[in-house]
Amino acid sequence: MRKSVFFGSDIFRQSVYGSGHPLNIARVWPVIDICRAQGWLDDDSYQEVSPASPALLSQYHDPDYVEALLTAERDQSLPDEMRTRFNIGQSSNPIFAEIYKRPATAAHASILAADMLASGQATHLFNPSGGTHHGRRAMAYGFCFVNDPAIAIARLREQTSKRITYLDIDAHHCDGVQDWHQETPNLQLISIHQQDIWPRTGNADDTGGGNAINYPLAKQATDSDLLSLMKTEILPKIKAFAPSYLIIQAGADGHMHDPQSKLNYSLDGYWQAVQLALSLDIPSLVLGGGGYNPYITAKAWAGLWALIIGKDPSHETLCEEAKSVLRGLTWHHRLGRDKPAHWTEEFGDRL
Ligand SMILES: [Zn+2]
Repeated sequence: MRKSVFFGSDIFRQSVYGSGHPLNIARVWPVIDICRAQGWLDDDSYQEVSPASPALLSQYHDPDYVEALLTAERDQSLPDEMRTRFNIGQSSNPIFAEIYKRPATAAHASILAADMLASGQATHLFNPSGGTHHGRRAMAYGFCFVNDPAIAIARLREQTSKRITYLDIDAHHCDGVQDWHQETPNLQLISIHQQDIWPRTGNADDTGGGNAINYPLAKQATDSDLLSLMKTEILPKIKAFAPSYLIIQAGADGHMHDPQSKLNYSLDGYWQAVQLALSLDIPSLVLGGGGYNPYITAKAWAGLWALIIGKDPSHETLCEEAKSVLRGLTWHHRLGRDKPAHWTEEFGDRL
């Protein structure tokens, strides 16, 4: 019997990152609102999360770095020496109003999720604000100020020595998680990502010190590439490892309409890939990650929650209220100017 929990926070309703940044889009609250509108998310399953305290975050990130995030939030600026040292305030990782609170909330959700997995309190947890897989212990990197997947793994490891599999289907390689956990025992890291895009790590021969298996895909890889890889390589490897816990980073930026990759997945293929992993019936934490087309990302992640509660999102239609959530989104990107109607009117893609 599944016990599912959806972690969210009103902090994600506030705008962030500033104009021109790829993450200056709504990503988490539309997922919450669509799931509620569709009647998929009741109060019993929803958990509002507060930011992790600096002391808690400092158990995982470098305390000086955590202090720098607090200072940046308080002063809305940072001395040059700290900007350079912590990679904060550079173009990818700008200083914004909730530069501490927002990532600390996403991290707290993954910490609480790890605790609930370890205690058996819940079997399927969803943190769409999580999946920031590039963050370093003492440095912001690739739009990521914390590394909540790495923290979730560490948190689980503190409480149990049982095997953990981390599966990452984001278009980009999970360099931050791989580096963080090179030495962690009983851990299997599997990443499928586009070859030769930033951060340019995760080649097929990159084993991350022994824990990692990397599957770079060529540009224009499609659903069938993703799904055949899942079926012929990845599921057998996970089954052979026999983990007790599964953490899935489900970045949606491999979608054909996402501007940050040249992968060619559809929503259906993306959902099927996650469903294949969930069908292993292992207690799971499902995270967001990349996703830079706000319409696609909202639907992709609302569909993840549908999968978690046992629905097939490929066969779902959007109710009027959910359509209005999508119609209300803004996207200052050339692809958003003439957007196809199905982005806001249909749940899946019209191929
Ligand atoms: Zn990504």
